[in-house]
Amino acid sequence: MSEPSRSNSTSYLALARTYLSVWGAARLGWRVREVPLVFLRVTDRCNSRCLSCDGWVLRADNPPELTTDEICGLVPALKKLRTRVVALLGGEPTIREDLETCIRAIRQGGMSVQIHTNGLAIDADRARSLADAGLNVARISCDHVAAEGYQRIRGVDGYDQAVAAMRHFRSLPEPLPVAVNVVISRLNQDVIDQFPDRAVEWGIQRMQFIPIHTRMSFRMGDSAFAPLVPDVSDLPAILSALDRAADRLRAAGIGTNSSYYLRHFDRAYTSRRRVRCAAGSFAVVVTTFGEVVPCYPCPSESEGPSVCRMPLDEAVNSEAFRHLRNCARTCDKVCWDQGETEPSLLFHMPYVLRHPLEVLQQVRFNSV
Ligand code: SF4
Ligand code: SF4
Repeated sequence: MSEPSRSNSTSYLALARTYLSVWGAARLGWRVREVPLVFLRVTDRCNSRCLSCDGWVLRADNPPELTTDEICGLVPALKKLRTRVVALLGGEPTIREDLETCIRAIRQGGMSVQIHTNGLAIDADRARSLADAGLNVARISCDHVAAEGYQRIRGVDGYDQAVAAMRHFRSLPEPLPVAVNVVISRLNQDVIDQFPDRAVEWGIQRMQFIPIHTRMSFRMGDSAFAPLVPDVSDLPAILSALDRAADRLRAAGIGTNSSYYLRHFDRAYTSRRRVRCAAGSFAVVVTTFGEVVPCYPCPSESEGPSVCRMPLDEAVNSEAFRHLRNCARTCDKVCWDQGETEPSLLFHMPYVLRHPLEVLQQVRFNSV
């Protein structure tokens, strides 16, 4: 099974330049010249009701979502920042009817586009229209291997639709690479061993495991997460199951997390951060309302940098963002956020020196 193929061509020289630029920004506080990955949250609205999320609760005091023009208007700044991948997330991004327009504009700017979706609203026609707009990778959330377990975690009866969405993307005349994100919690820790078989059955190209942990609960408060966070005494069994699952996925030619990330999965619960975080240097987050923050778990500030007030390339080099980036660089929170930690590992010398081949695979993995 092959890795995603509809990527921008990426020369080793350009990768080396990007690596140096991000390393300097992340480690030495250099000016941000390149941001390879931008997480762009296009809506907080959602058609799912996950126990771990209240993003879909519409708050009266929420500012308006970024408009189509505002999203498409980010493209010149993304080009200046030599962004390679724009990940469109939510909420549920497919709720926006202008999603294809946004994808088309970003693709015309030369970037690769991924969506992070629950797949519930994706039928054959929508899959085709997203692909026609230029979508490169579909990342679909599916946290269980059976309908009942899925509903317990996600609050809706959507397992069959999520699996159908994978099939729709894979059945296109030019099949789109599909990655499945699995958030591991107390509600699915007992079925980790069954995911590799499902991954093969679903015909997907990647499967990534993400620990649920209180660092993800910035909007809901830790108490809401308590019933979902695995018991510390279960962590050894979870680590073993993840190790077995990753081996079986790799043997089947399906991409997955780096071995370092999985081996230290328990750092989401048990220890202060030991890998310096590159949030704000390798990747930045643009929220639904335009604020620019280094990482998803980082709450935005009302007067912080925002693409509603300045271009993105200026926002990431503003004094306010430099301060946020410094906080990320020295952040010692109990956090093992997958979207930030896996890229940060690419700059973590003990990992780079011991696993050079895997680093190259992960660079490719994060460049598409
Ligand atoms: S699908 Fe995502 S945005 Fe929607 S409720 Fe679940 S976690 Fe929240
Ligand atoms: S470790 Fe990084 S991703 Fe986690 S909260 Fe700190 S800055 Fe954000």
